[in-house]
This record gives sequence, C-alpha cells and structure tokens, in this order.
Amino acid sequence: MGKVLVIGCGGVAQVAIQKCAQNDAVFNEICIASRTVSKCDDLKKKIEAQGKSRSKITTAKVNADSVDELIALIKSVKPDVVLNLALPYQDLTIMDACLACGVHYVDSANYEPEDTEDPEWRKIYEKRCKEQGFTAYFDYSWQWAYQEKYKKAGITAILGTGFDPGVTSVFTAYALKHYFDQIDTIDILDCNGGDHGYPFATNFNPEINLREVSANGSYWENGHWVETKPMEIKREYNFEQVGMKDMYLLHHEEIESLAKNIPGVKRIRFFMTFGQSYLTHMKCLENVGMLRTDPVMFEGKEIVPIQFLKALLPDPASLGPRTVGKTNIGCIYTGTKDGKKRSIKIYNVCDHQECYKELGSQAISYTTGVPAMIGTAMVMTGTWKGAGVFNVEEFDPDPYMEGLNKWGLPWVVDENPVLVD
Ligand code: NDP
Repeated sequence: MGKVLVIGCGGVAQVAIQKCAQNDAVFNEICIASRTVSKCDDLKKKIEAQGKSRSKITTAKVNADSVDELIALIKSVKPDVVLNLALPYQDLTIMDACLACGVHYVDSANYEPEDTEDPEWRKIYEKRCKEQGFTAYFDYSWQWAYQEKYKKAGITAILGTGFDPGVTSVFTAYALKHYFDQIDTIDILDCNGGDHGYPFATNFNPEINLREVSANGSYWENGHWVETKPMEIKREYNFEQVGMKDMYLLHHEEIESLAKNIPGVKRIRFFMTFGQSYLTHMKCLENVGMLRTDPVMFEGKEIVPIQFLKALLPDPASLGPRTVGKTNIGCIYTGTKDGKKRSIKIYNVCDHQECYKELGSQAISYTTGVPAMIGTAMVMTGTWKGAGVFNVEEFDPDPYMEGLNKWGLPWVVDENPVLVD
C-alpha cells in the first residue's frame, strides 16, 4: 500500500517497526532513521533474517533536531506517512518538515522542550501555567497551533497514538460511541506489575519518564485543572491478573485532549502504579540534583544531570529478557445511557515475557509500539482521514479497536467495575 518513514529506533520504535513489517500488506516499505544508523541497520537485519516480511526496509541517518536534515530525508525517501518515535523534543521540527513536504505526521507523545530553562520557552510556559492552572512541561498547545497550517496543506497529523495517550483515548471514544450517552468521569489506570530485578530502572526513556513522574500531579474537574504535589494522591486498586497495587495520581497529556473532546465530562484523572523502592530512588535522585535538565559545568565540560543519569541506568530496551509479570492499562468510565446510570472498565492485560518471545521487547515498549503502528496504518489506509491536527479520540474508534485485537493487544469490557474513590 505505502511507505512509512520512522524517526527513532529506541524501545518503542523497535516494536512499532517490527509490527509494521508484520503488517506488510499496508507497509510495503519502511525506512528507519535516527542519529545512530547502526541501530537501525541491526533492526533491519533482524527483521530480514526472520524472512517473514515482504516489506522493503531501508535505513538512514538523521538528526531530527534539524528541519533541513529532515526535509532532505523526506524528499529522498518520499514516504506517505512519517511516524515520529524519537523524543517529544523533536515533535515540532518533524511537524515542520512534514508540513514543508506535504506528508502526513503521526506521533506518540506531545511536545516538550529539551531545555526547560530556555528563557523564550519559559515565558510562554509561565503564562500557560497561570492561564490553564497546570505546571507540567508538556502540553498540546504547541502542536494544536499547527491546525490551520495542516488544514491548508491538506495533510493529517495524528497526535498521541501510544497506549496512554493513544489506546486510552480510543477506549474513551469507543465507550462514548457504544456504552454511554454521557460520560461523567474517566479514571485512567496504568499498572505495570512487571519485575525486572534491578533496584532501579525505567521502562521507557528515563529522561522523559523521570520528568513526568517527578512533576506535580493534576486532574480535570468541573471545567478546570486541580493541581497536586507530586505523588500526593495515592489509592490502592486490585488489577485483574496483576493484583493489589499502590497507584498515584499524575498529570498526563491525554487529560488535556479528552477534556476538550469529550463533551460534558466532569472529571478526568490518571493514576500510575509505583513500588516503594522506585519512589525512594527517585526522591533521592531528585534531592541530589540528578533529575536537573539544565546544563551544569563538570570538570570544564557541560553536562545535563538527567542525561548523565540516563547513561548510568539500564537501557529500557535491554529489560526485555529479565522482566516478568503483566501490565494492566485501561479506563473506568461512569455516566448515563438511556437515562440510567452506568459504569464500565475497558482494559488490556499484556504479559512481559510473551512480548519478549514475540519481538524481543518488554511490555511497555510493546503496548506503545503496537498502537503506534495501528495509528499509522489508519492514516496509510485512509481509514482515518482529514486535513488538520487530530487527537486519536476524534476518529471512529471501531477499526482501531479491531486492530488492537488483531495485532496483540486484546481488550476487555467489564460492566460495574470497582470504582476508585
Ligand atoms: P528511546 O530513548 O528508547 O528512543 C528514542 C529514539 O529516538 C532513539 O532511537 C534515538 O536514537 C532517537 N532520537 C533521539 N533524539 C533524536 C534526534 N535528535 N534525531 C533523530 N533521532 C533521535 O525512547 P522510547 O522508545 O522509550 O520512547 C519513544 C517515544 O515514545 C518517546 O517520545 C516517548 O515519550 C514515547 N512514549 C509514549 C508512550 C505512550 O503510551 N504514549 C509510552 C512510552 C513512550 P539516536 O539517539 O540514535 O538518534
């Protein structure tokens, strides 16, 4: 059918690319590009050695911080869609390059700047904190600002097709389409019951993960944001196939888009499970300054503490062989249907070792990479189309939900689930 250019070859991209290669009727050609082309070449060799995919795979070197480099690459590869699985720092440069070349854009995480001390960015950020009432470094305003430009160019941008955001947002559109006339509350519960055996490691890019987890929490209630201290709100929940876990309220990007796109929703919260050891390590690292994102001088050289920490921590892509247990990620909805009160939970359970056996990855990369492929396939096949910038809940959820069942993330709907107080 068409050609995809994937930017990035990290943990998530490795899954998405292998899934694109499985879905070779849609992805005839796949170009993998990042700064470290040897990693892209290794993945190409791995897929080709299995001899199961008819997709033609090529690789390229690109620094996605440079719009000019990206434009040159897009012009030479001529993809139908660019799938951005680099870091949120590169969202805007890649969106600019897609716009310049008239090519569709897909990603899995919203924009945040690499240097949060940059005075120009900081001014806009501080204004947004005051106006909107949440202090996370990431928000959708930067990418939603491309709406008119993408519309005019007649191209599609799909934002946030990972698991959360992504599948959780599609679950919400599905719940609204089939189960509710009105959704009142949404609780997104992200549980990782996996154990990798290290005292401390993160399951995806440590820099992005630690920034997210050490930030203030927040939730949406009655039309505005309510902000909390980091980890201030704790609940316990008994997750199907995982068991009882502590979970903490975090700010999360899909709250922002769901508040905009789900009419009349009264409250949206996001909870993630953490063990005590993870939290103690993180607090200690934060207290000693290792989570700082601004450069500091060390022996005559500038280093960014959180990037140095990333170099010390296990590579998330290496956790696959040693992680056992399951993830359970989903959403609890309350609302009304035909005048009656109703509550449901939609969730997926994913087994770390099963993911490793299939693709050599742990379940966090798997649960993000599979939806990244499905969202890209929606655009490639024209199943989801429209000129402009969209979040995934704005489209028909049914074909995406079918895709989840088909490509390895089957889901369950429970009526009358246990609610979170
Ligand atoms: P990794 O750090 O493992 O991989 C990042 C990749 O991006 C690497 O291959 C890196 O390669 C490449 N990259 C980084 N900077 C550049 C650059 N300037 N130019 C070109 N390539 C670059 O991250 P993950 O795979 O864990 O995460 C990927 C994305 O998925 C992130 O944006 C993350 O936030 C998102 N995510 C979304 C989730 C969801 O559910 N929605 C869940 C988990 C992650 P190199 O250094 O060689 O260039």
